[in-house]
Amino acid sequence: MNKLLFLIIAIVALGWSAPVSAVERDLIRVAISRAADSVNLQGDGMLALRETGMAVVLPPAATVSVGHGQIMLDGTGYRRLRITAAGPIKVNTKSYRGVLELSASNGVLLVINELPLEDYLVGVINSEISSTWPMESVKAQAVIARTYAVAKRIERHGSPYHLEATVMDQVYSGSDLEDSRAARGVHETAGQVLTYHGKPIQAFYHATCGGKTEDSSHVWGAALPYLKGVDCQYCALGNSNTWEQALSLSRLETALKVAGLTDIRLGPRNSRDRLKTVLLSTSHGTVTMPATKFRMAVGSTVIKSTNFTVRVDDGSAYFSGSGYGHGVGLCQWGAKQRALDGFSYSEILSYYYPGTELRILAPDAGF
Ligand SMILES: [Zn+2]
Repeated sequence: MNKLLFLIIAIVALGWSAPVSAVERDLIRVAISRAADSVNLQGDGMLALRETGMAVVLPPAATVSVGHGQIMLDGTGYRRLRITAAGPIKVNTKSYRGVLELSASNGVLLVINELPLEDYLVGVINSEISSTWPMESVKAQAVIARTYAVAKRIERHGSPYHLEATVMDQVYSGSDLEDSRAARGVHETAGQVLTYHGKPIQAFYHATCGGKTEDSSHVWGAALPYLKGVDCQYCALGNSNTWEQALSLSRLETALKVAGLTDIRLGPRNSRDRLKTVLLSTSHGTVTMPATKFRMAVGSTVIKSTNFTVRVDDGSAYFSGSGYGHGVGLCQWGAKQRALDGFSYSEILSYYYPGTELRILAPDAGF
């Protein structure tokens, strides 16, 4: 292909300032790096488009860094670049479909991956569950990941990106984890979102609830009718729901920002069996801390849930708990078991999100 023609096509395809269309509305913007000083990019036929509309042809491997409030590429500073290639682009070690948008933000590099929502979802499945799970649970995961993304896209409209690529939102590692079963789960539910009164719900989910899912009001204070908490005997089957953790009191003092910690006692539990508060006995008195705050301060992968008991002995605290995650919304291991038991993805979803309705995401639906 004639090189000039290729550039023109690329510029049109990148659409720097095209009007918002139905197709654009179906794009999602995910922050894949927002702490690094530089990233390495690799891809065949990479093109970097400047805001002026000028395109720069990149070599198959390039390093983009931050300097003087700009992004630096091959000795030249830019405010923002949109990069595309013939196929996926590797950012350090992970590959991404669609467009990469790079800019400097607070002295570090902000890398946003902009791609069709449905392509993003195929990449999410194996970051969140395993596509080897029964297909109905893969489809349930596809619907809630889509619903979560769409709700965030509405909430963060006008922001530089819609989603983080971490547990802060949904774990997304690019296209490397795509496979045919993940794609099937996404395609067989194409465009479907869970709604309540016609609007996409806040589709929170977690790994395993340990017996009862949580009421959203207990975690975030907001009582949503479809996040009330349901009984779930299912995640205990075929999966270990319990966890143990031993931590030194000195480590806990650092994490909790308290001095002279001598004991940890349990406060009351809520209706979903989770602790409301944790009482920290210190040489200066007792500190009462919300259990959700305690879990986040120590680490959500260390204290896996707020359903635990604790024993302090000889300078260490020994925790025994059940469940993994905040417990709100769909229980992923429970959904897997329900699928093995023969329930469809729509039955699984209506169980964990009572009162919701599946709808097709239409360009004219307003979301
Ligand atoms: Zn469960």
